[in-house]
Amino acid sequence: MASSTEKKHSITLMLIPHNAAKTYCLQTSTPFLVIIGLLWLATVGVASYVLTQRVNYEMVKRANIQLTEKNAYFIQELVKSHDAFQRVAKMEDELQAMLQMKSRKAVLEYTGEGGPTMADQVSLMKTLKNRPAITANEFDSSLGYLRKSASENLETYNELKKYVATQRSLLASRPTAWPVRGWITSRFGMRQSPFWDGLTFHQGLDIANEEGTSVKAPADGVVIYSGWQGSYGKLVVLDHGYGYSTRYGHLQRCLVNVGQRVKRGQVVAFLGDTGRSTAPHLHYEIRVHGVPVDPLKYLKQ
Ligand SMILES: [Zn+2]
Repeated sequence: MASSTEKKHSITLMLIPHNAAKTYCLQTSTPFLVIIGLLWLATVGVASYVLTQRVNYEMVKRANIQLTEKNAYFIQELVKSHDAFQRVAKMEDELQAMLQMKSRKAVLEYTGEGGPTMADQVSLMKTLKNRPAITANEFDSSLGYLRKSASENLETYNELKKYVATQRSLLASRPTAWPVRGWITSRFGMRQSPFWDGLTFHQGLDIANEEGTSVKAPADGVVIYSGWQGSYGKLVVLDHGYGYSTRYGHLQRCLVNVGQRVKRGQVVAFLGDTGRSTAPHLHYEIRVHGVPVDPLKYLKQ
């Protein structure tokens, strides 16, 4: 019985060469073949697993090299950006010092807005220069610092822009140009009155010239009076802002209206002899916050 079962499970493999001189018979059992098959499958499985791992390893290695290169590039760019920001900040400080402006940087730093400080950033940049990689945290903090610097720079830039605009407008408002050319017949200050009133204070500068000579605005401004006013005769008053105003008396004709904006050099009136005047001349006054000052101290020689 046992031998018949053995016979049932055994297999004969027959190899017949083409010349058929001799045949080779190989008798084996089914379990043995199954074991061989399984071994073969296991070998193939292990081999392909090892191969896949090797390929993956090579891919990871290549990606790692690329990442390292990218990281180094980021560091380089970060250091460059940091240097550029440092240069801008230095230039701003110099510019503010040159313009004698109060720097707001100290105030901004004092408020302690949080986030990375400049000292942190400087020390990080120093170590990064000798390091191949940067951590995500360091990168984040550096980027945060650069963003903060950029917004601070923008603030300073806006401050500078505002300052320059104010200075330009202040300069344009200063009455430094002569309203009319001519002979100075009476200066600012105490004088013997030409109308036998004794010593009186002359609030302006008298410039004589022919009647009808153009009177020009010495600075940008707005007309706040244009018409007759007592002893001034025909009078034009300009407001230049920043406390400056100018007056033009004894005019022959006013060419501007109240509320009108005038530019430096614009003709606003013609020289005349109206009001309390002894001969054709312009009575020119400069007032600072309503107080008459010596025009010769403002006029360019
Ligand atoms: Zn006068």
